[in-house]
Amino acid sequence: MRRIAVIEKDKCNPQGCGGYLCLRVSPGNRMGKEVFVIGPDGKAQVNEEVCTDAESITVKKCPFNAIHMVKLPEKLTDKPIHRFGTDGFELFSLPAPLFGQVNGILGINGIGKSSAIKVIAQMLQPNFGKATEKKSAAESINALIQMFRGSEAQAFFERIRDGKLKVSVKPQAVDSIPATFKGTAKKLLQAVCKDEKKTSAITAELGITNVLDTDISKVSGGELQRIAIAAAALKDNASPDVYIFDEPTSFLDIKQRISTAKFIRALVKPENSVVAAEHDLIILDYLADTVHIMYGESGAYGIVSKPKPTRNAINAYLEGFLRDENMRFRQHEIKFESKPPEKLGGRESLVKWDGIRTKLGKFTLLAPAGELPKKHVTGVLGENGLGKTTFVKLLTGEIKPDSGNVNANVTISYKPQYINAAIQNPEDQVTNFLDKAQNDTQLMARLEIEPLLLKKFKELSGGELQRVMIAKCLAEDADLYLLDEPSAYLDVEQRIAASKAIRERMSLQGKTAVVVDHDLLLIDYVSDTLMVFSGEPAVNGEAHGPFQMETGMNHFLKSLNITLRRDKDSNRPRINTPDSRLDREQKAEGKYYYS
Ligand code: SF4
Repeated sequence: MRRIAVIEKDKCNPQGCGGYLCLRVSPGNRMGKEVFVIGPDGKAQVNEEVCTDAESITVKKCPFNAIHMVKLPEKLTDKPIHRFGTDGFELFSLPAPLFGQVNGILGINGIGKSSAIKVIAQMLQPNFGKATEKKSAAESINALIQMFRGSEAQAFFERIRDGKLKVSVKPQAVDSIPATFKGTAKKLLQAVCKDEKKTSAITAELGITNVLDTDISKVSGGELQRIAIAAAALKDNASPDVYIFDEPTSFLDIKQRISTAKFIRALVKPENSVVAAEHDLIILDYLADTVHIMYGESGAYGIVSKPKPTRNAINAYLEGFLRDENMRFRQHEIKFESKPPEKLGGRESLVKWDGIRTKLGKFTLLAPAGELPKKHVTGVLGENGLGKTTFVKLLTGEIKPDSGNVNANVTISYKPQYINAAIQNPEDQVTNFLDKAQNDTQLMARLEIEPLLLKKFKELSGGELQRVMIAKCLAEDADLYLLDEPSAYLDVEQRIAASKAIRERMSLQGKTAVVVDHDLLLIDYVSDTLMVFSGEPAVNGEAHGPFQMETGMNHFLKSLNITLRRDKDSNRPRINTPDSRLDREQKAEGKYYYS
């Protein structure tokens, strides 16, 4: 069984650990071997050849969890596709973009999804595990053909070699586009497609016509995401053979997620292929025909499973076990319980509001009288621009209504939507910020905060910062916890962990929470009751509820014209295929949501 030793360079912080702690505590180094050394980049470097089991102590000592020493699964017979440096992340196998379908990719952050995508798109020349050897593009592609001989991927790489495939990629980090492109959205799209008719049809379909003349640096995250999707669809005058969408629904609201998923599905033709990596399980389920699961250890190594039909793949992912490959990749199963319907009668309320009306610029929010039930988690669903965050700010007292009152004589702990703005000093260390949370070992473990404590805020990724802010919010002693978009930047497992952390805190301490999010699965998992926002984005919004889950979901799903069922094996929510028997039956009965 092969063992690999890896240092995650972006986590390695030699100053933060008191000066190359691993070099000082390594049993091998103490015996005069050079197991850990200082690399040319100033970060620690590990020498895999002389690394023994005794170094497990060094792994544990690193306060930033930057060192991995892992045994690769015994059953892994594949050779590596790529290694990032001699002590870096190793990728095994690749997704095979089958033609005439959407090929999904599912896996946690740091497992190599974007690297696998880059190899398929020929943006990364694989080194086949030999980090010091450089292969030419022709050598790499021939080696890939050899490696995948006899599989569907062979034909794919042969067509790449012969220059017969045009690949278009929507990158993951759309928020970095303004740093590399200057100008309007229209200018960006004109650079990839000269056909104005096609461009206007696609931009209309994606709902971005009104931002075409806006400078890229001024558009919102959701608009930027759809501009990037339009650019990928329009590349090569709208005729790519392989479309790759890396996390296409980040920053989108639920309505936009569904319409974007429909848009991506509609790109598929028998002669082309679509690849999509996605963390929103309900959307991935709706979007993909088959799914490759990526598993391994985040930051250390990633293995791509064979493709499986989407339903089986997602259920196997939740179970943590690939039956046909006889591979357990997670010890625990992720379970969804069907909750009994909430009884609303006779419950106590924590916060009440009478008919509220408030105007912010050109936008008006109305909230007919309502109340938040005590000891409940109330989920909030609705499109962007309908006033969900404004409503949260009315509850916190940050915004005063023009008419009506909010009776919220309670202490509030609030996690805002825009978490970067909540950081006062990027130089501050996380440990000073999370004083209370550190006493709660369950919360710390659930959100994997320990390795982040010695980091400065400026060193945190989006997902790490989100977890810190959720921990901070939940650790405060308050009557009401308000969490605005806790799923942003989190991968599928972190979303479920965050949902569990919220529920545990509320049920163990009998507290009340309001959770605003666009991930239907998270809202379904976390909520006892539901508020739904309707209206015209950026013009007017109306808050409805809180309702029982079934009533609220029926209301919301009807507005989206979709129906949900629970998967019979995993209990997870699934969108019914439009116009399928179940979809028609549920709509006819007015049961858009399973009861
Ligand atoms: Fe310090 Fe860990 Fe980096 Fe070693 S790997 S220098 S212990 S942060």
